[in-house]
Amino acid sequence: MLTALTAFDSIDPRDLPPAALESACKKHGVSPREMRRLLASTLERGEMVPVDWTSRGIISAAKAALFDCSRCLKLAESAVSQIDGFQKLLFYTPDNLPVETVIIPLHKENCVSICLSSQVGCVMGCVFCATAKMAQRRNLRTWEIVEQFIKARQIARSQNKRVTGAVFMGMGEPFLNYDRVIAAAKLLCYPVSGAISAKAITISTVGLVPEIERFTIEKHPFRLSISLGGATDEKRAALVPVAARTPVNEVIKAARRYSESRRDRINLSYVCISGFNVSEQDAVELAALIGDLPVRLDLIDATDSRGQYQPPSESEMKFFRDALSKHLRQPVARRYSGGKDINAACGTLAGKAVASKAAQGEMKTSNNSLSSLIDA
Ligand code: SF4
Repeated sequence: MLTALTAFDSIDPRDLPPAALESACKKHGVSPREMRRLLASTLERGEMVPVDWTSRGIISAAKAALFDCSRCLKLAESAVSQIDGFQKLLFYTPDNLPVETVIIPLHKENCVSICLSSQVGCVMGCVFCATAKMAQRRNLRTWEIVEQFIKARQIARSQNKRVTGAVFMGMGEPFLNYDRVIAAAKLLCYPVSGAISAKAITISTVGLVPEIERFTIEKHPFRLSISLGGATDEKRAALVPVAARTPVNEVIKAARRYSESRRDRINLSYVCISGFNVSEQDAVELAALIGDLPVRLDLIDATDSRGQYQPPSESEMKFFRDALSKHLRQPVARRYSGGKDINAACGTLAGKAVASKAAQGEMKTSNNSLSSLIDA
């Protein structure tokens, strides 16, 4: 039997952790099968109005009235990098705040991953990061995170690309919006058609120890990536000042507990800055910090849109990698951070309309259907 709802009781299936959605559906007489079909309709096909659900026979009109997916992100701009095909999307929330999402081409042909934002702005204050300089700040709602994925996937599909993963490495520190990020990740891998694998979802943090511990205890199936910034407390204080209030040894201890509980290597990332943290001494300190903790270490070139922090030259980077292979003896990779010409690279997302006219023109000619997704 249906239970009457007030306007405030409407269920947005993009905005609840799956367990809460299941219980809300049960309470209102929506069967698990109807819930799964509704989720597939909204998450995979982006069908957000009741007539979509009733005309397809997913749910009756009376039950459709229980749900409300009318809130939406407006796509204001899209730009494709002329260098590497990274694509940045600029959305606006209903309260007119900018949110950026990046479609990342993968090595496998026609496969892409979606880089999602979890906050508008960020209080962590990492010195090389444009997001930290944004005046407006708030956590994104779960539906605002999920909607980025839905819309980015529609765009990717219109270009005959397949979305195989998602990374929480866009605007914001995901662990400052822990509950909603976890809820969104659970929705993206909820077993309905179009779900992505939980193992293909990576959540990044600049090293918030209580949340790393919580993530470990809760045994989420998603991958965790910890961004170190520097190998010593002094260098972290200079680069990632808020995160550096916790000693880096505590971060590594939390990483070890996570790695032991998963019986797997943990991903660490290290932003490389010319003349600052890529010397032999830095390699020695980084290797000493990591010790025998099993890691995959990603080296990322710094991208500072203001030009204050420069990435290492090729010879500097080779020297640093050689030094790491001598002192660390664990897998080290250089992670490509693309879309530099459209400010889509790590640390450059700032919610500004930055697409060059050429990039926008290229986008529109290469994808006619995109215009229907861009709101005027
Ligand atoms: S790098 Fe990440 S954690 Fe640091 S200020 Fe930018 S968005 Fe926040």
